[in-house]
Amino acid sequence: MKQSAPLQLRNNIITLSHYNVRLQHICTSCSENVILHFKTNTMSQEIEHVQCLIIGSGPAGYTAAIYAARADLKPVLYTGMEAGGQLTQTTEVDNFPGYPNGITGPEMMEDFRKQAERFGTDVRFGYVSSVDFSSMPHKVVVDEVKTITADTVIISTGATAKWLGLPSEQHYNGFGVSACAVCDGFFFKGQDVAIVGAGDTAAEEATYLAKLCSKVYMLVRRDEFRASKAMVHRVLNTPNIEVIYNTEAKEVLGNGKNVTGLRVVNNQTGQESDLAVEGFFVAIGHKPNTEIFKGWLEMDETGYLKTVPGTTKTNVEGVFACGDVQDHYYRQAITAAGSGCMAALDAERYLAAKEDEVNVSV
Ligand code: NDP
Repeated sequence: MKQSAPLQLRNNIITLSHYNVRLQHICTSCSENVILHFKTNTMSQEIEHVQCLIIGSGPAGYTAAIYAARADLKPVLYTGMEAGGQLTQTTEVDNFPGYPNGITGPEMMEDFRKQAERFGTDVRFGYVSSVDFSSMPHKVVVDEVKTITADTVIISTGATAKWLGLPSEQHYNGFGVSACAVCDGFFFKGQDVAIVGAGDTAAEEATYLAKLCSKVYMLVRRDEFRASKAMVHRVLNTPNIEVIYNTEAKEVLGNGKNVTGLRVVNNQTGQESDLAVEGFFVAIGHKPNTEIFKGWLEMDETGYLKTVPGTTKTNVEGVFACGDVQDHYYRQAITAAGSGCMAALDAERYLAAKEDEVNVSV
């Protein structure tokens, strides 16, 4: 495009969708055609206001929704990309009270959703792409286009288990491969299993598994643990745990349906060997889903949201956090659900106190 003369532009603006914009500039002096294609979050946007916005659809989010809806807060819940959360990747859930015969993770989360909707929760598929907690009401952008203002925000975005990244690990996930010994250890009662990881979680899970299983092989990739001394001591003093140092998992072996073994490699010698195991537990850490809250909410050094002890209150007024996103320690569906209940009660009480303030000042 010539830059000598001031540009006189004839603009054709075509809105392709509610946020994709194609802007055509035709320079009247040189007739050059410039097409700009961009996304906007300012055009044709409605702003919706809600009393209670819940972000995330695991046990914490849905339980918060059940309580908030029953308290007439008319909650709107955004599910995130993985509606139902981590439990949708689980097969059997045997330890959630109220299901005497067990239930699959996806079915359980369906029940949670139905119960939340029964009381009027507006459950929507969508992910929260950014937040602005600088002033009241809080602003939340959904799918990069829709802005919602909310008097209270309940965050229940959970945490994601880290995986090794082996194709066979994904293939047998839920069929012998698990990232939660407390959830799935029971299914391997009396059997031989392996666990990878050397942090506190792996150490704790290995000792938990050792109580149920005949033998637990523990793969540690270095020649030492990362876990605390006390936890390491416990592992090393459990007779049916065999720690294999400098060793990594290479492939999960199976018969197509279930795990039958694990191929491991010594990273010092390159020597490979197979362990005959029926279960393989991955305990190499979790990542809390808190990226969008960076700069707004206080987090610990690993990114978990900090809450005021004994409550679900974050450092921002009217913003509450529940479930795994603020709990790296228990990480159970039932504890997440419990803290979801707490978050809804905290939100309800916060709104009631605000209303009292307004009534007193009038
Ligand atoms: P950590 O990040 O502490 O440990 C992860 C472990 O996984 C490390 O040993 C790491 O090895 C190993 N690892 C990572 N990637 C791989 C891989 N690709 N292959 C093999 N091994 C791998 O996570 P945790 O979940 O154990 O703990 C998270 C936090 O929670 C920690 O602060 C912990 O102290 C705390 N916690 C406390 C508990 C308690 O107090 N009872 C219980 C559970 C957790 P490497 O060491 O070589 O890097």
